[in-house]
Amino acid sequence: MIQTPLESLKKIFGYDAFRLHQQEIVDGLIRGEDAFVLMPTGGGKSLCYQLPALHRPGVGIVVSPLISLMKDQVDSLKAYGVKAAFYNSSLSGTEARKVLARLHGGKLDLIYIAPERLMSREFLERLNDIPIALFAIDEAHCISQWGHDFRPEYRQLGRLRGLFPEIPLIALTATAEAHTRRDILERLGLRQARSYISGFDRPNIRYTVLEKRKPFAQLTTFLQPRYKGTGIVYCLSRQRVEKVAGALTEAGFQAAPYHAGLPAGARKQVQEDFLRDDIRIIVATVAFGMGIDKSNIRWVVHYDIPKNIESYYQETGRAGRDGLPAEALLLFGYGDISLARGLIENSKNPERRRIELHKLNAMVGYAEALSCRRRILLGYFGESLAEDCGNCDICLNPPRLVDVTEDSRKALSCVYRVGQRFGMGHVIDVLRGSQKERVLELHHDRLSTYGIGRNRSQEYWGSLLHHLVHNGFLEQDVGNYSVLKLTDAARPLLRGEQTLSMAEPRVKTETASLTHRRKGGQKARDEYPDDSAALFERLRTLRKKLA
Ligand code: ADP
Ligand code: MG
Repeated sequence: MIQTPLESLKKIFGYDAFRLHQQEIVDGLIRGEDAFVLMPTGGGKSLCYQLPALHRPGVGIVVSPLISLMKDQVDSLKAYGVKAAFYNSSLSGTEARKVLARLHGGKLDLIYIAPERLMSREFLERLNDIPIALFAIDEAHCISQWGHDFRPEYRQLGRLRGLFPEIPLIALTATAEAHTRRDILERLGLRQARSYISGFDRPNIRYTVLEKRKPFAQLTTFLQPRYKGTGIVYCLSRQRVEKVAGALTEAGFQAAPYHAGLPAGARKQVQEDFLRDDIRIIVATVAFGMGIDKSNIRWVVHYDIPKNIESYYQETGRAGRDGLPAEALLLFGYGDISLARGLIENSKNPERRRIELHKLNAMVGYAEALSCRRRILLGYFGESLAEDCGNCDICLNPPRLVDVTEDSRKALSCVYRVGQRFGMGHVIDVLRGSQKERVLELHHDRLSTYGIGRNRSQEYWGSLLHHLVHNGFLEQDVGNYSVLKLTDAARPLLRGEQTLSMAEPRVKTETASLTHRRKGGQKARDEYPDDSAALFERLRTLRKKLA
């Protein structure tokens, strides 16, 4: 009989050593403990429950959402000589009876099953008579609305912990920010479980964020020295994909568009050409990349802000799979946030909207942040970094800090004076003494804070207000037009008991918005300073100058 998990790792699977955390997870499970495992795709999650299932008496029951995934897993286990089967609707009556006979005869090490089938009364009754090694919930984020792939049938799994208090339970996922993690643990009743989070770091990818000014020029400037290698440019809309791909081609780059609106044949062709390096650049929506296995993608550019950090990290993670130096560039413009918001607001489900807005805010926070990019990204997934990475724009070129204590007090007072009922745009208008009708109508020109920030640009106040939000002095009420409110943390700053600094803006944003026009028909919101009104104002002056 097999002795240690390490020996079975070698004998059965043919691997020399465990990856980070695998051994601890396996040992814990064998002892009968619960576990929560967060590792990226390809990180090696399966072994974490497969090995303990072999080392404990009884069958390991694995919950998996997709029939195709079950079949792949079982086929590869069989190839290793492990007694595994799946039990789902793809089986014929005879096949299903055979699987059940093996299950009851103690002839299975692992059985893969869909959640609703496991939780059916019929199956649960069967389990009364069978020794169980463990329960493994794969793709555990499916249990949470916060995950990207919520499946209501996963909710039933919440009863498992109570029904089988003695059997160890392990939940595994490749994607879970803080809310999803908490949700998974709570819903599965994994209060005592140890969490293992690892493997997200991609040290060979250099992360850079540039404020969006003339994005196409910025893109080609980035591409020129890197054109030897292949890469992907992600855009948020099909129209922009077409435009950018067209413009790149015109500028002499070998680029092709890819989005869900193209015929299947054309998409397939583009993919194949890209895989063979016949096309250097793919300009794509998020539709591109699933299942693309190309190891030498050298760079990924986000031409528009992605909707959340999960997508961003997954998309940038397509670069540098070969471990060689690779780059991820994000062009970040406030105008684009409206576009991203617009897409989110199309969603009919209010709960989804709330969640997605929250995630978009985290993405904006990343783009605006002034600390090591990798630390923020890994932190989002719950993994910590011992030292700053030394391979992102912030680490390589630390921003210069300026003291903003006095201006912060002005801004906070102004938020207070307008009654904590307005968004950024309006607060900035009051600070800068705007003559806009809305400011005058509301008599905000009579406030003591009216015009106290005239000496600073709109962009400056925008950056400062965002800075105050991200440092917890202000909060933006996402459910209520992003109205700004003071937090308790604002008091010491207001009373002059605390100082605050902020990075000097790296790129002037003067021309940033000129290239972006708001989509027609959208309601104008004032939460972002360089939105609509100011933008059109500048366009108008520019046109006058040109005329
Ligand atoms: P995940 O479920 O996390 O996406 P898998 O469990 O499918 O990942 O594993 C991904 C690949 O890594 C598989 O080919 C697997 O055999 C391999 N792998 C896992 N653990 C080890 C290890 N300790 N040593 C070598 N290869 C491993
Ligand atoms: Mg897996």
